[in-house]
Amino acid sequence: MRKKPIEADPDAAKLAPLRGPLREWYARHHRPLPWRTAPSLYGTVVSEFMCQQTRIETVLPYFARWMQHFPDFLALARAPEAEVLRAWEGLGYYSRARNLHRLAKEIAAMDEPPRTAAGWKRLPGIGPYTAAAVASIAFGEPVPVVDGNVVRVLARVRGDDTEFRSNQEAVDAFRPLAEAFLDPRHPGDHNQAMMELGATVCRKSKPACLICPLRPGCASAGKNPADRPRIVRRATVKVEVSRLWIERDGHLLLHEGAPNGRRLRAICELPLAEDIPGAERVERLHRGVRSITHHRITEEIFHSRLPEMPGKPALPSPPRHGQWHWVPLSRIEAVTLSGPHRKWIELILGHR
Ligand code: SF4
Repeated sequence: MRKKPIEADPDAAKLAPLRGPLREWYARHHRPLPWRTAPSLYGTVVSEFMCQQTRIETVLPYFARWMQHFPDFLALARAPEAEVLRAWEGLGYYSRARNLHRLAKEIAAMDEPPRTAAGWKRLPGIGPYTAAAVASIAFGEPVPVVDGNVVRVLARVRGDDTEFRSNQEAVDAFRPLAEAFLDPRHPGDHNQAMMELGATVCRKSKPACLICPLRPGCASAGKNPADRPRIVRRATVKVEVSRLWIERDGHLLLHEGAPNGRRLRAICELPLAEDIPGAERVERLHRGVRSITHHRITEEIFHSRLPEMPGKPALPSPPRHGQWHWVPLSRIEAVTLSGPHRKWIELILGHR
């Protein structure tokens, strides 16, 4: 049975003495990430966009290249969108790149950037989490950052067994406690310390309670902390997708998303089989399984030939208002591809 959301925590006073040890632990043990060792407002914003839904190890080389290519808001604002998307390729979720680009244009047009979370929330692509991170780290505003890592730490410290239907529900429920625990004199360091603790010590499985600075006040230490927080996951939905590899005179057929499309604007993908009815499947070139949220997607790529239909064009109109492109295989590097498509294409070409 679900309990009521957590109210402003009556035990918050118990947590206050742990702020100092937490900050000391962070000062000594945090990972020397580039946006921490050479902090700047722009670097903080870029890192927050890149780290959403992506592991830090994956982000590091992208961040380094990005900062060389677009060293500040102005350089990013002036860059063409195709160049921005190309630099983002491989990180996925292109809407983040587009929003970061729009954000840079807005900031470049301002006299000075906002200094509060409320001001940042009005900018493109900035939700409560990023707004709080930027405002506390770059401007010292005492607003708590609450993400999955912070929820995990707080749920365990409290010994909370509430069942949540989603991550967002848990984030909303723990915000008052995060606010009460926030160190008002060092909000940026405190927020980063909580995120770092969740990422490196209070991990999902096998939390390292013995070295944790919050252990003296934690209700879960040594009592199966990995069971908390309790978030009821949605049932997995299986999806099967077939794609086609169609070549003609050294050119590969790709579909580019429509200019007014939300997700795949100006981004190319291998065509979906359903978009070219009648294409002959010669052999399977690749099969892979990946998960996106609660979807488990099996993706197959078939070497195919266009259907021969006398008197009719073999290629139907491009679907969803996009465009077909015959891209020379020798120039595939220059094309912006969606998500894993570059990996698949390189894999298939590598097997020749
Ligand atoms: S003592 Fe263990 S469960 Fe509690 S916050 Fe630290 S790592 Fe997490």
